[in-house]
Amino acid sequence: MAQMAMVMNLDKCIGCHTCSVTCKQAWTNRSGTEYVWFNNVETRPGQGYPRRYEDQEKWKGGWTLDKKGRLTLKSGSRMKRLLNIFANPDLPTVSDYYDPWSYDYDTLLSAPQMDTTPVARPKSLITGEDTKVTWGANWDDSLGSGPEQVGKDPLLAKLSEQVKLEFEETFMFYLPRICEHCLNPSCAASCPSGAIYKRAEDGIVLVDQDKCRGWRQCVTGCPYKKIYFNHKTGKAEKCTFCYPRVEVGIPTVCSETCVGRLRYIGVMLYDADKVLEAASVTDDKDLYPAQLGVFLNPHDPRVIAEAERAGISPEWIAAAQDSPVYKLIVDYQIALPLHPEYRTMPMVWYVPPLSPVVDTLTQTGHDGENHDNLFGAIDALRIPLEYLAELFTAGEIGPVRASLQRLAGMRSFMRSINLGQEPDLSIPDAVG
Ligand code: SF4
Ligand code: SF4
Repeated sequence: MAQMAMVMNLDKCIGCHTCSVTCKQAWTNRSGTEYVWFNNVETRPGQGYPRRYEDQEKWKGGWTLDKKGRLTLKSGSRMKRLLNIFANPDLPTVSDYYDPWSYDYDTLLSAPQMDTTPVARPKSLITGEDTKVTWGANWDDSLGSGPEQVGKDPLLAKLSEQVKLEFEETFMFYLPRICEHCLNPSCAASCPSGAIYKRAEDGIVLVDQDKCRGWRQCVTGCPYKKIYFNHKTGKAEKCTFCYPRVEVGIPTVCSETCVGRLRYIGVMLYDADKVLEAASVTDDKDLYPAQLGVFLNPHDPRVIAEAERAGISPEWIAAAQDSPVYKLIVDYQIALPLHPEYRTMPMVWYVPPLSPVVDTLTQTGHDGENHDNLFGAIDALRIPLEYLAELFTAGEIGPVRASLQRLAGMRSFMRSINLGQEPDLSIPDAVG
């Protein structure tokens, strides 16, 4: 009933990829994992990494409800999954991730004298062949975002009737992603060898390398595509939430090295009996409130007594009481889960970006706020609320709007204080 969780504040991400690079240096700087980024940062709108991972009709990740309303793996029955062991059609290929390359620097050194500068050709790190580079882990960053993204980003394609993107209305932001260390992990449920487990003490999801037989059902089963196949060892690998560091009280590598200081780590206490119940609610739009409902108030004496009975140490209970993530997720309700409709109960949460308000920016010079019209301003954000809702609340706009209103209200309130002005005392009540 104790779970490590992370909250990322998206307004602060500058897309520098320091988190990805330091994670790679620590965990996947080995042969067999060249294409693997346990932490990646993708540009939205965009297709992500691997390409179009959010299209679960294609990749069959996560859970769905069967005709009787029971939670069932989207990748099919046990029999279908066993048959798929031999020829799994629902797996991304390396070209969906990207074929990592290195430049053939010999071309630069040994090229004959020419009129133009010799150009080093990229070589595949996997096959050694010359490669025509057509995709990368964040190729969308180079493409920029505009109306042409509508057909490529699955979320924008879904919203194309509501969100008409003209060039002057284009928007972009960065979305850093790691394994969600889900409360209801479909990777673990998909594994025929029982190799994937969730640690009771902190909820971290790991792959037992001795038990893994390389069936790759977990790669299909994870809707976030955060399990990777190591081509050299023939085993599955994934983000470990840096458990050797967490165990001695230091943060994950991505959090410690984050340039924007946007990652908050903490402990959540939850009611394990309610997890499957919450994941099974019939309406996708109820999944976010249902997920909120599984968390326990760490200050409630009955919760503390129950946690002690369950063997949770006093240090961890104290950590849960002091947890920034509990405040951001439950108290303030400004952090939202990524794609709750996958029904895995993800435990990496996001404070949505409070992008510039197009009309107020020109009037006040301040982003994302309008002292006179906080609520109207939220509806004039550059990033469409519909898009954020597709990412974080299964299309339900209310919680996204409420989160952004709180952020704008706090910004406005604090700006007044910092400027030595009288803050508008009605703001805290107005934004809840
Ligand atoms: Fe498993 Fe992580 Fe995927 Fe959740 S996000 S299903 S814990 S690999
Ligand atoms: Fe964003 Fe931090 Fe990663 Fe830089 S290090 S890309 S700011 S999450």
